[in-house]
Parts: sequence; C-alpha cells; structure tokens
Amino acid sequence: MGQRGRYTVTRKGVGWILAFAVLMLLFTYEAPDRSSWQAWSLPLTGTVIAIDPGHGGIDGGAVSKAGDVVEKEVTLAISMYLRDFLQQSGAFVVMTREEDKDLASPDAAQARKRKSEDIRNRVRLVNDSTPDFLVSIHVNSIPSPKWSGAQTFYSPSFKKSAEVSYLIQDEIKRVIGHTDRVPSKTNNVFLIREVNCPAVLVEVGFVSNTEEAKRLQSVEYQKAMANAIYQGILRQYSGEKAPITP
Ligand SMILES: [Zn+2]
Repeated sequence: MGQRGRYTVTRKGVGWILAFAVLMLLFTYEAPDRSSWQAWSLPLTGTVIAIDPGHGGIDGGAVSKAGDVVEKEVTLAISMYLRDFLQQSGAFVVMTREEDKDLASPDAAQARKRKSEDIRNRVRLVNDSTPDFLVSIHVNSIPSPKWSGAQTFYSPSFKKSAEVSYLIQDEIKRVIGHTDRVPSKTNNVFLIREVNCPAVLVEVGFVSNTEEAKRLQSVEYQKAMANAIYQGILRQYSGEKAPITP
C-alpha cells in the first residue's frame, strides 16, 4: 500500500506541474481576438457589396392596380433582409438608402430633375464605395396583368455580372419558383451600366400581376427573395463557375 501510495502522490505531482505549465502557456500565449477569428472564418469577409433599393421618397416606382403594393417599399424591405444576410456572412454592405427617400438634393423641385439627380447620385455613391459587386432591387410592371416571375438583368461590361446574374436567377428558381425566366443582358439600365463594378439588377416580380403583387407584399416572399439573392452571391464568392447565360 505504501509503495502504491507514494506512486500515486508522484503522479499527482506531475499532474500539478503539467497543469501549472498549461496555465503559464495560456497566460503567455496571446490568444487571437475572437472577433477577428470570426471574421476570418466567414465566407464573405473582405467583400464589399453595395445594395440599391430602387426608388424612394417622392418616386414610388411601380404600384399595384389596387394601389396597396408600392415598389419603393418592397425594394427597401428585400434590401434590408439581404443586407442582414450578407453582413452575417462577413460582408461589408453599402446601402444607397436605408429609408424612404431619394438621393436628389433638397432644392431639386421638379420630379424629373429629382429623378435624374437621384440616379446620378446613386452611381456616385456606389463608385465612391468601390464595392466588389452591386445588386439593385426593383419591381417589374407592364400593362398586361398576365406576366409574372422574377428576373435578373446585367450589363455586359463585366463578365462577373453575367455569372452572378445566372447564379441569382438559378437560386430564385430553386428557392422561390414562379419563374422560368433566364438572366437578360441589357445596356439600357443607367445604374448597372455606369458603375465601375460588376452589377446585377433583380426585378423581384411583377406588381402588375395580381397574384404576384400579393406575394411581393408578404414578408415570407421578401425574405425568401433576399435569401435567394444572398445564396446566388455566396455561390459566386465560393468560387463556383457559372455557365455564361444566353
Ligand atoms: Zn423600378
């Protein structure tokens, strides 16, 4: 018993010395800052993404036939959800607006002058922020009520615009459905054509279609759309090679 007892004491002693050594190591070793570790481990860390919620202020954009669904409200709601998704993944997000306003100067009285100032200021704001990517959110509307379905648009200036456009459209089909549309190339959208970065415009649905107007108003659809756009962006930044669209 005596021998065994001494042996036990010795082992305990070694244990204490080891524990002390580990403690010393813990105190002397400078642990990495938790926030920087988190940032390092997130998929969009180091990425600057600009979000443009279309319209705002006196420019309401498209409105449903019943007058209850207004484009500027839908675009802002989806943009805010998208902002949160992207920030949670480590992206630095720049918003052209976060409230119900346009970007024209206070003295621009006429609606037409305001509109042209607004869009130029959006381009300037985006370019000054030198983002890696811009996504502009809009709601579609045409005279015929029969068309529906979300669709992405891109300017051909950057190859990446076509790629992200494809991935977002693919995610919209997967997450939301209600569309067989394919990404469309355009040179007619001032903002996505004039910015110095890859850019995609998402028409999140047709407010001129009664069923889709109802969907556009629902928080579920708005969150699902933000999620689809977010997933498309994630796929691009995870290095997925998107086939180039027609
Ligand atoms: Zn619009």
